[in-house]
Amino acid sequence: MTQENTCYLCGAECEVGLMGNHRITSYRCAYCGVYGIHRHAAINHERDETAKWKAACVLAERRLQKLDNFIILPESVGEVLGRPTTTIESLLASYPKTPLELLDRSLLNLSRMVKHPGNIIHIPEDHPTVLFSQTTEELVYVIDQFQKLGYIDHDRNVIVNFTSEPANVDRSPMYLINNGFYIQAEGLRRIDELTRTSAGGKPQAFVAMWFDKSMDDIYDNGIEPAIGTDCGVKCVRMDNIEHNNKICDEIIAEIRKSSFVARAACQ
Ligand SMILES: [Zn+2]
Repeated sequence: MTQENTCYLCGAECEVGLMGNHRITSYRCAYCGVYGIHRHAAINHERDETAKWKAACVLAERRLQKLDNFIILPESVGEVLGRPTTTIESLLASYPKTPLELLDRSLLNLSRMVKHPGNIIHIPEDHPTVLFSQTTEELVYVIDQFQKLGYIDHDRNVIVNFTSEPANVDRSPMYLINNGFYIQAEGLRRIDELTRTSAGGKPQAFVAMWFDKSMDDIYDNGIEPAIGTDCGVKCVRMDNIEHNNKICDEIIAEIRKSSFVARAACQ
C-alpha cells in the first residue's frame, strides 16, 4: 500500500484526490469520513502519530454525526471551497478530556451506528476510532466497561441457539469484539439521558432569535449571562454552532436536545 491511497489521519486505504490548486489533499475514508487537508497542516503533524489518531477519532464521531466534509488548514478561516474549515489543534481539543466523557461519547457513537436497537454492531479490532481507542487493550477496556454497566451484550442468537445454560456462553469482551453485540435497554436509557444534555453534561437551552448582527449585544450581554452564567445552562444559538446539514434539520435536532427554548423578541 502506498501513501498516495491511504488516509492521512488513520492510515486506512481510501479514495484520495487533490483540490484547491493541488494544495489540499481530499480523502474519502470509511472511518474518518470526507475531509481535505492543506499541505502545510499535513506537514506540521506528519510525524505525530498519536495526534493524527486522536484527530481520526474525532473525525469518526463527526462522520457518524454527518458533520464531516470539512477542510483542515494550518489556521481556521471560515469557509474554503464552500466547506467549513478547522485545524488539527481544534480537532485535538475536541478529543474527550476525561475517561467518563470518552465512555459517554463512545456510547453515543454506537447509537449512531444502528438504525434499530436490534441491529448488531461490529467494531474492527484494528480500527476502534469510534470508541476513541487505538490499541486492542484500549478497545477491550471500553467494551468491558460497557458490558459491566449493562449497556451492551453479545449476539443474542448465540443464546437462542445454545443448548446448555446461557451462563456458559463466552461473555468476554474479546468475544463481543469478534462476534458483534447489541445495545441493551440500560445502554438506550443512558443514550437518552446523554442526548437530553449538551456534550459538557449541562442542560441546554435553545435560544430562538433573529439572525442579525443587531441581536449580538442582546445575546452577549443579556441572554447568555442570564441563562448561561447565572443558571449554568448551556445556551445554543443557531448561528453559533457548527453544522453543515440543512438548517431546519439542525434547529429541530438542537431543540430536541434542549430542556427549554428561550425566545428573544425585538421591535
Ligand atoms: Zn481515515
